[in-house]
Amino acid sequence: MSGKHIILFGPPGAGKGTQAVKLVDLLQVPHISTGDMFRENIKNQTDLGKLAQSYTSNGKLVPDEVTIAMVRDRLSRDDVKKGFLLDGFPRSVPQAEELEKILGELGLQIDHVVNISVRDEDIRTRLAKRAEIEGRVDDADPAVIQNRLDVYKSQSEPCLGYFRPKGVVRDIDGIGTIDEVFDRIQKVL
Ligand code: AMP
Repeated sequence: MSGKHIILFGPPGAGKGTQAVKLVDLLQVPHISTGDMFRENIKNQTDLGKLAQSYTSNGKLVPDEVTIAMVRDRLSRDDVKKGFLLDGFPRSVPQAEELEKILGELGLQIDHVVNISVRDEDIRTRLAKRAEIEGRVDDADPAVIQNRLDVYKSQSEPCLGYFRPKGVVRDIDGIGTIDEVFDRIQKVL
């Protein structure tokens, strides 16, 4: 294991959240999920939550400056020194660039970008299932799902082009059981 500063990357419905829970348990590092942070703020109807909701409910990205400020604040805590699992961040090239700056200031760097890939048809099936099980509103509406896939392709996927030249991207096939995918991830870390 060469370092524990890890980004979990992949389209919506790739299984990032499920794998994240298992990974943080294994690695004993903080789980930093921007989606969870937004959902928590929405539940409590904070100012940040109200703002975020107008984007998340349509499957759009919350503006970079808001998201980056929230992550910057979280990364200022001492517990990130030993490692972290970033789940759902960065999701745009400006976020990736800003992350690099923040980590530079902290004397840290990304060790692995675990890129879980799943085909679009499989994503649709998975999101429909998750909508039933978890009742996530942004999983239930086909138009919102399509929006999230489009946003992933146009804004998030280019992050891989940012990280690849650094030699930190680990490509993982996201098809299979939870344990099969988890085994593949463990092998590349
Ligand atoms: P997730 O649970 O990661 O799928 O995130 C749920 C929703 O939160 C996304 O569809 C976005 O609206 C918002 N969100 C989460 N992470 C980010 C991010 N890094 N940048 C912008 N919006 C985000």
